[in-house]
Amino acid sequence: MRSKKKRTDRVALLLGLLCLVLVVIVGVDIWNNHKDKKERSAQKTASEETSEVIALPEEMMESESSQESESAESSEGSSATEESSEESSEESSEESSQESSEESSEESSEESEEEKEREPEPWNLTLVNRWNPLPEDYEIPEFTELRDNNSIDSRAYPELQAMFDQMRSEGYLPRITESYRTHEDQVAMMDYYIQSYLDQGYSEEEAKEMAEDYVAVPGTSEHELGLAVDISTADYEAQAPEVIWEWMAAHSYEYGYILRYPEDKTGITGYAYEAWHFRYVGKEAAKEIFEQGVCLEEYLDRIDATPEEIAAAQQEQSEGEG
Ligand SMILES: [Zn+2]
Repeated sequence: MRSKKKRTDRVALLLGLLCLVLVVIVGVDIWNNHKDKKERSAQKTASEETSEVIALPEEMMESESSQESESAESSEGSSATEESSEESSEESSEESSQESSEESSEESSEESEEEKEREPEPWNLTLVNRWNPLPEDYEIPEFTELRDNNSIDSRAYPELQAMFDQMRSEGYLPRITESYRTHEDQVAMMDYYIQSYLDQGYSEEEAKEMAEDYVAVPGTSEHELGLAVDISTADYEAQAPEVIWEWMAAHSYEYGYILRYPEDKTGITGYAYEAWHFRYVGKEAAKEIFEQGVCLEEYLDRIDATPEEIAAAQQEQSEGEG
């Protein structure tokens, strides 16, 4: 009887010890778990902060456009790339944080360094094309109102007037059909073109692609820059626009204006030939561009089109000629 009770006591003691061990184990586990959660949530906050840096819209746009242009520029100016990576140590923490957050190839991070290395062009040489949208903070200090609801950047006006005076004195009848266009105008215009192709039975993708051959994607039109004019004739019966374009192609550079989308540069400019579209760049640059027979992208050494895009445009052109 007694020994039986002793055994029960021992069993009770053992059970008690077991419980204690269990409590300790569970307790430690709970505490660890809690610690883990705390650490994890700290990590989460940190990674959220990083992703915010990655998601900055401007950086997205930059890396997207630099990816597109990778092959073109890497073959174009490898010496410029080397130079810029040497000097890039000067560039601040912004750069290094971008590098660490960007998981793309070495090439594209070198690309963005090169972009930053570049001095911004002066206002008259601002490059706006499908690879280089108009900077959102770009400001036109003053407008000059022209006839027919047109207006342009006042800095491009005196030479435009002088050019028109000269043409008129020679019997030409030029007229401006398009000039400064607001971003909203550009959006409306793109929508209009897409719709007209849709109405002709093209698919949405086709319509968009075809419209983009003729209308700049909003944000990428020189008309939003206030330095471009489209020229036609003031009197179709008296004078065909081609007559005026011919004079302008030969003389506009004397007034600081260039034929912006030449027939033989469509791959580089990203535009079909536009005989009517002239862009102000100032007399000095216009003369050099004219005499060298280059387009603005070549003049600025900022060719973003891929070799494939350039080749495709050349192919298309030779087919058209043949
Ligand atoms: Zn135009």
